[in-house]
Amino acid sequence: MRYGFGVDILGTHIRFGFFEETGKLVEKWELELPGFWDNSQILPAIAKEVEQYLSRKGIFEDEIIGIGVGIPGPVSSTGVVNKCVNLSWGVFNIDRALSGLTGLHVKSSNTANLSTLGEYWHDSTSRNMVFMAMNSGLGGGIVCEGTLVNGASGGAGEIGHIIVNREETEACTCGKYGCVEQYCSPPGIVRVARRQLIATRTPSVLRNRRIFDFREVLKAAAAGDKLARDVMNQVYDYAGQALAAVCCVTNPDTIVLGGEFCRIGQPALNGISWSFHKYVFHANETVRFRFADLGMDSTIYGAFKLVYDSFAE
Ligand SMILES: [Zn+2]
Repeated sequence: MRYGFGVDILGTHIRFGFFEETGKLVEKWELELPGFWDNSQILPAIAKEVEQYLSRKGIFEDEIIGIGVGIPGPVSSTGVVNKCVNLSWGVFNIDRALSGLTGLHVKSSNTANLSTLGEYWHDSTSRNMVFMAMNSGLGGGIVCEGTLVNGASGGAGEIGHIIVNREETEACTCGKYGCVEQYCSPPGIVRVARRQLIATRTPSVLRNRRIFDFREVLKAAAAGDKLARDVMNQVYDYAGQALAAVCCVTNPDTIVLGGEFCRIGQPALNGISWSFHKYVFHANETVRFRFADLGMDSTIYGAFKLVYDSFAE
């Protein structure tokens, strides 16, 4: 039996999964990163964790296929991190760096892409998948004819930065105006709510509140608050519009909604698919919508699958 690691680097902690070559998850755990940590310590921390785990389990390095790593930023297919703003990383080859520290094969990709790969791997009915997840922003990934699309510089599947509103006057984090993430994300939902509160006289529990977060908008919408419902319909409308555009390029059989969409549940799926069908090209009308099955584990599954596909043979 051979084994492999799937690793997900998050802002405040690192998630690890240890897998059998069959794809069975043996164990998963998290390593907390103290707030004062320097991000240059992340790779040495992963190397140390892997080494300690293997020695504890009595497993030798030649039984390990490698380490798959998810990073919250763009990574090229050769492992070059292209300025990961979330981790204050510059440009360097992470595969080579971590391989140098561990003596193991390393293969990395963008977190959202690996979540997509994890979900795809666990769905035997799909060959062409689009994944869209709302976490701190709006991430995405694309599987086309069974292959995860990475793109020339790792920027494929960035659904959140499809422009859906040409009238927008505030800039997105990417510097452009009117990206779908500016509405369909936690800060985006609050932005849409604030604008509707100013533009209308619709009564709402959110009115006269100086500070509220997106969960309060969701809660109000679920309780039937008219304004909050209008806000979420607007958010879902932009999401559906972006997905319809993606489908014109990839013609998927399945669209998977992940992250906060899973928590919102049926109203998110109904709202987005309703809007999607308003904008969709007829050849894409039969696409199936579903929620992500693997939840927070989709990235470690995808990371293991990536390294397995690269080095298991
Ligand atoms: Zn943007």
